[in-house]
Amino acid sequence: MRARERWEYLSRAPLIGWDLIARGQHRFEYDLMPVAVRGMSAAARLNLLRSGLNLFWRRNKPWGWPLHMQVELTSYCELQCPVCPAGTGELERDAKSIDVALVEQLMQEVGEHLLTVSLWGWGEPLLHKRLERILEITSRYPCAKLLSTNGQQLNHPRVQQALRAHPPTYLIVAVDGLCDETNSVYRRGAKLQPLLDGVRALAEWKRSTGATLPILHCRFIAMRHNEHELPALPQFCTDAGFDMATVRTLSIVDTPVDRHNGLIPASELLRAYSYQDNQRARRSDFVCQHAFTFPTLMADGRLVSCEQDHNCSQAYGTLKPGVTFSDLWRSDRASSIRRTIKESPEKFSFCRNCPYADRPTSSCSIQSLHLRPGIPGVGD
Ligand code: SF4
Repeated sequence: MRARERWEYLSRAPLIGWDLIARGQHRFEYDLMPVAVRGMSAAARLNLLRSGLNLFWRRNKPWGWPLHMQVELTSYCELQCPVCPAGTGELERDAKSIDVALVEQLMQEVGEHLLTVSLWGWGEPLLHKRLERILEITSRYPCAKLLSTNGQQLNHPRVQQALRAHPPTYLIVAVDGLCDETNSVYRRGAKLQPLLDGVRALAEWKRSTGATLPILHCRFIAMRHNEHELPALPQFCTDAGFDMATVRTLSIVDTPVDRHNGLIPASELLRAYSYQDNQRARRSDFVCQHAFTFPTLMADGRLVSCEQDHNCSQAYGTLKPGVTFSDLWRSDRASSIRRTIKESPEKFSFCRNCPYADRPTSSCSIQSLHLRPGIPGVGD
């Protein structure tokens, strides 16, 4: 989050407080996706106020529970995307599917307080054999459920059944090219057909049943090889049955920079960062919030400050029976890691290469298109 964005948030505090106290709801935008969390318990409302204060104080031992969580369902993927550590083989962790019991344990402890739960990490979540059970567990909580996929398993009956039985709020599908030739430059090994068949089947099922979720969201990362396709994106998404689309900038990941550089779009308007002499221009107005409100549970049960710590180099510890989320979240080790992130982030390689620090806004997406009227929030 940028320093000025913190003050913008503060200026909206009276409206947020009224919505929260009088209506038990919180409406916000999450990476250009409109979200409304309704039916918040008194404890969840109080936690939002406490965590809001933490936006400014950033206590090493936070006052509240996290507001957002990333839960990595699998740490493996069938594609070989060139800057993703799972795709390049740079992930130094075993290929794992998260234990469903851990998801249950986590959600029982923090689910009531969350605004969003993002069900992916550095692997492909639809490869998890018990996806339906995980969606069922998260469906019991009022937070927005976000599921992001490369779409290669989207036409599989097991996946269609899971998404219809317990629809996430947003199903985010990566389309990084409007034909196989351009899509597979970055999504190496991907085909558009299974993705498009899966989206069409879900769109048809929604239309015939009147279901409003999942919101079918096409996410297009603008890169050098696909930026010329952007004018055709709205029609492509409408024909495919998507409800909305966003154009996203290509973030850096803590992997070799030269691989990333070849993908940067020619148009400066589509770049995540400014460049001077071929170097990313550094900014000094970034205030990290991840470590204080947005941790990640990896597929092997390790809890980290931020999804960018993809090799768990600074894990708080491992969630398991007998070790609660609270034990890890409020531990001295977590406190010490947060202090380093706050005071000397250059000590951690994932913070040195933080994808959020040098971009002009917190949001990674730069444009959204609503293709159908009435994109609903949670609880609509
Ligand atoms: S990489 Fe480091 S500085 Fe950036 S958001 Fe994550 S924890 Fe914060």
